[in-house]
Amino acid sequence: MQNRQKNQVFNFDKFPNFEKDIDLKQRAWIEVKGEEIEINVRHLRSQLSKNCQFMAVVKADGYGHDAKLVSEYAIKGGASQLGVATLNEGMKLRSSGVEKPILILGNLYTKRDLIICFKNDLMPTISSIRECLICNNIGKQFGLKFPLHLKVDTGMSRLGFEYNKFVQQFENIKSFDNISIEGIYSHLSSADEPNSLDPKSITQLQRQKFQELLKQINVDRNKNIKIHLANSAGMLLDKNFHFHMVRVGLSMYGYKPLSKLNKDLLLKPALSLKVKVAFIRTIDKGVSVSYGGKFVSNRKTKLAVLSIGYADGVPRNLSGKINVIYNNKFYPQVGSITMDQMMVDITDSNEIKVGSTMVLLGSDGDKSISPLEWARKSNTIPWEILCSFKNRLPKVQVG
Ligand SMILES: *Cc1c(COP(=O)(O)O)cnc(C)c1O
Repeated sequence: MQNRQKNQVFNFDKFPNFEKDIDLKQRAWIEVKGEEIEINVRHLRSQLSKNCQFMAVVKADGYGHDAKLVSEYAIKGGASQLGVATLNEGMKLRSSGVEKPILILGNLYTKRDLIICFKNDLMPTISSIRECLICNNIGKQFGLKFPLHLKVDTGMSRLGFEYNKFVQQFENIKSFDNISIEGIYSHLSSADEPNSLDPKSITQLQRQKFQELLKQINVDRNKNIKIHLANSAGMLLDKNFHFHMVRVGLSMYGYKPLSKLNKDLLLKPALSLKVKVAFIRTIDKGVSVSYGGKFVSNRKTKLAVLSIGYADGVPRNLSGKINVIYNNKFYPQVGSITMDQMMVDITDSNEIKVGSTMVLLGSDGDKSISPLEWARKSNTIPWEILCSFKNRLPKVQVG
């Protein structure tokens, strides 16, 4: 014991054992409604062309929602495959009991990692002959076929076989006996840009290139190979992007990547971000608030100190730009957001108390605040907002 005086004897039996069920809602937390994920997946699937499958993309801990929880409800909603970014994410999902096919969207390049991938019943994304050969050797070693997806680059310049060489390389790959090609795919770079329905847009060009390639390798004859191209935005553009499967992240969580399109699409945000009021103080007119004194009160002001900050994943550059909801009313956040706390002007409220719960993201009554709004205000994209939330925020399932 470091903080207590030496030689002092404490009898802890006098205190209840509160530690054994720690309050997850002690300061700030994320609430996830699994049913909303399920409803979103069903709704999105109803927009798909016939027989098109739905891969639920649950990388980055299910976009900050908890990958296991999201997977469970996405599967209930009819998702037939799961997509993760890393080997570890895949292994965690497998060991949590998920039984659907899992594709690793990132690149594995060592024999060691590919063996782990194979043993854990995960599928790698293959972007070169070299890695394809490693998989074939592993398959041979185990006397089995190594299931994998091949990826082709059609304009993203990230992963994927070089477009112009793929047809020839595919001829070679077809002769590998110990791999099983489960899918061929590509990835759209700009489907969420406003011009993506324009015939000359990068997105349409990527689709044309992909289709041209499929024609050349005559892949239709092999019905077991799943062809896929679309992310959320691609899927929502039109059915020409659907092929045999879509890989959907953002819109499954309840957000439209393109606000203009799909006016009748009803997606339900599954995530809320909530926080407790840890302290309340009143300051006079003309008093500065938080680091740098960027905010100075122009009246006698009641402040609520919320126990959440940028170390929890709230972007610091939202300082002074956001509202927080309590009981169907907005209250402005004021002063710089600090690492662990932020202040809110609650002068107009008599009902907010220490220990009250306020809503940073999500809805309360008819008021709501979306990660799309945070993204716009902090000059980033909703994807980044969602996957910035830190482990310090417990995830609580509700509903
Ligand atoms: C993340 C990711 C997706 C999902 O993208 P959303 O825009 O969130 O739907 C699909 N495919 C790949 C390869 C990805 O990395």
